[in-house]
Amino acid sequence: MIAEPTPTPYDLKFRSFGFPVRVHPLFWVISALLGANLLNDPDHGVLFLLMWVGVSFVSILVHELGHGFAYRHYGGDGRLWLYWFGGLAISDTARPNAKQRIVIALAGPGAGFLLAATVLLTNRAAEWATASVLTAELYWQLMWVNLAWGVVNLLPIVPLDGGQVTREVCTLLRLRRPLETALKISIGAAGACVLYSLLTMLTPPRELAQILPWWMPAGSLYTVMMFGFLAYGSWQQLQFLSRYSSYGWNDPDDDTPPWRRRR
Ligand SMILES: [Zn+2]
Repeated sequence: MIAEPTPTPYDLKFRSFGFPVRVHPLFWVISALLGANLLNDPDHGVLFLLMWVGVSFVSILVHELGHGFAYRHYGGDGRLWLYWFGGLAISDTARPNAKQRIVIALAGPGAGFLLAATVLLTNRAAEWATASVLTAELYWQLMWVNLAWGVVNLLPIVPLDGGQVTREVCTLLRLRRPLETALKISIGAAGACVLYSLLTMLTPPRELAQILPWWMPAGSLYTVMMFGFLAYGSWQQLQFLSRYSSYGWNDPDDDTPPWRRRR
């Protein structure tokens, strides 16, 4: 559903568990930007930021490996991309059905939650997080990226994993235009996230602490931009679909634009 990024000569290339992995240079830039506020720490800022980039790299790789192993489970190959602050797992040979595609989509966030659980349990057993300022930061970053990234990915927003699941559920429910329904839900969900982010930005922190549960993160300019971008993307795709549906492009299992179809 997302276009594969164009390979660049600056991609980092390696194999992980037999899967070819490519890391787009923008991945490092975006993850450093997202962690830039860590530089506010006068003693460990640079170290915390480097740690953040490393933690993002490992966590998003684990997420994509989750998708990759699910593809392999269904008899396909898989190659993984890390780009922007996210990734992509692609299989050229897998031909999964709708139920299998749901499992493949959920395997990414699932792998991240497993990593978070491992971090939690090893700390319960060995209490490594309290050893130093650095291990405390490492613990917090690993938990935050894996939980938050997993939860955000499960939102019913296209092209996130949750949006993919919505689309497959619509297919299983035999709706006439599963992708269009998923895109409408996606616009609603992403729009709600923009509104939520704006409301939490405008409410004074003290009042916010009384309204929201402690684990519920407040929005920021980043989340406004990210969800706004996602809502706009879904809207654009919906416009495109309704324009081309008159050309017979209604196959629920094929959302490849006509000019890119190989079949
Ligand atoms: Zn994913």
